[in-house]
Amino acid sequence: MPTMLVKNAKLLATMDSERREITDGGLFVENGFITQVGKTTELPQTADEVLDLSGHVVLPGLINTHHHFYQTLTRAVPAAQNANLFNWLKTLYPIWARMTPDDIFVSTKTALAELALSGCTTASDHLYLFPNGSRLDDEIAAGLEMGVRLHASRGSMSLGESKGGLPPDSVVDDEDEILKDSERLIGRYHDAKPGAMTQIVLAPCSPFSVTGELMKRAAVLAREKGVQLHTHLAETQDEEQFCLELFGHRPVAYMESLDWVGDDVWFAHSVHVNKDEIEVYAKTGCGVAHCPGSNMRLASGIAPIREMRDAKIPVGLGVDGSASNDSSHLLAEARLAFLLARVRAGVEGASLSGSDAPIMTGREALEIATIGGAEVLGRSDIGSLEEGKCADFIAINTHRLEYTGALHDPLAAVLFCNAVNVDVNVVGGNYIVKDGELQTLDLPTHIEKHNRAAARLVEG
Ligand SMILES: [Zn+2]
Repeated sequence: MPTMLVKNAKLLATMDSERREITDGGLFVENGFITQVGKTTELPQTADEVLDLSGHVVLPGLINTHHHFYQTLTRAVPAAQNANLFNWLKTLYPIWARMTPDDIFVSTKTALAELALSGCTTASDHLYLFPNGSRLDDEIAAGLEMGVRLHASRGSMSLGESKGGLPPDSVVDDEDEILKDSERLIGRYHDAKPGAMTQIVLAPCSPFSVTGELMKRAAVLAREKGVQLHTHLAETQDEEQFCLELFGHRPVAYMESLDWVGDDVWFAHSVHVNKDEIEVYAKTGCGVAHCPGSNMRLASGIAPIREMRDAKIPVGLGVDGSASNDSSHLLAEARLAFLLARVRAGVEGASLSGSDAPIMTGREALEIATIGGAEVLGRSDIGSLEEGKCADFIAINTHRLEYTGALHDPLAAVLFCNAVNVDVNVVGGNYIVKDGELQTLDLPTHIEKHNRAAARLVEG
C-alpha cells in the first residue's frame, strides 16, 4: 500500500493521552497505519499521496457505538412521529417485518454514507430482526463496499407477545438458531487483529424482547470466542417497570443476574441508572453508548453522562437507529451530547460559573466521539492520531460560513458551530470522502433506490 503525507493542517487534534493539539500539523502513513505525527516541518517531505490540508482542522475519525442502519428506511413515519419507545416499536415492527435482504444492503449503504460524510470512520450497528431470509451478511457486504470499519452486532429477538414480550411473534426467532448463526458469523467475519475492518458482536436486543436464557447463553458464547456483548439498557421508565414486574429486578440488577456485566459489555442509552448502578458499571468496566438525539426524540430522558465520566466509565456516542433520531449525522450528535449535558446541568441547578463548572466542554464531547468510542468498542488501534494507530482521520475546511467569526479556537468551532459535513474522511489510508464528495457510492442513484424501498415497506 502506498505512503501518504498529510501536511499543513491549521490544527491537528491528536486525542492522545496528552490531548496534544498541533498547529501546522500533519501525519505520515504507511500501509494504512500512522508512522509519524507532528509539525509539517518534522515530517518526510513527500509520499506517494500528498494531502495538503491548509486551513483545515484534522481530527481522529469519529466512532459511532450504536445504530440500526435498517431504520433509515423508516424515518419520520407519520404513525411513529409522536410515540414513546414502546408505542413507536409496536408501530414499526410490522413494517420492518416486510424487509428483504436487499433492503438491509441498501439501508446499510445509506446509513454509512451519512455517517462517513459526517466524520465517522468506525460504526457499530445492531441488527436484530432478520425477516424474509435477511442475514447479517447482507449488512457486512454493504459495509465492506463502503470502506468504513464495521462492528456488526448479531442482534436477536426471541420473546414474542405470546410469551410476555413486546414484539409480535412474527419477528422473533428460535434461540438455538440465533446462537448457531452467531457462531457462524464469528467464524466467518470476526477479525481481532489491529486494523480490523469487521468485527462481530453478540447483541440480544433488549430485556423486553429476549429471554434471560438467551442472554446467558450469548454471554457464554461471546466469552468463549472473545467477542463483545451489547444490548439496549435502562432506556426508558417503561422498560424499568417491565423489568421490575417480569424479573423482579431493575434493568442493571437483571443484567448482573445474567452475568452481563464486564469490560466486554456495552449498553446503549443507560438513561435511567441511579448512583449504585453507575457504581456497578464503574466496578465491572461496562461501557455506555450515549444517544442524546434518540433520547430526546423518544422523550426517554437525559443520561447522567457527567456522573459516568467522573466514575471513569467508558462513554461513546451513538446516533441510534435512524427511525428515532432521524439522522445519522455523527458530528451533529456530538453537538447534541454537549448541549444536552448543559441542559441537564442547568435543570439540576449546577453552578455554571467559573472554569471548573461541571458542564461538558466542546473538547470533551469530541473526546467522547473519538477515543471514548474506541474504548467502548474495545479497540486500542483507533480513536486517536498516534504512531502505530490506524490512519483513520477526518478534516474540515475552516473557511466556511458556519465557522465565520469562530476561528479564535478552530477546534471548538467544529463543535460549537452548526455541524457540517467533512471535507475529507480517510479510513486506513483510503479516501472515503475527498473534497467533500463520497468516494465509495454514487449517491444520486442510491438515494432513488433507497426511497423506492422505503415507500414499498411503509405503504405495504
Ligand atoms: Zn437502539
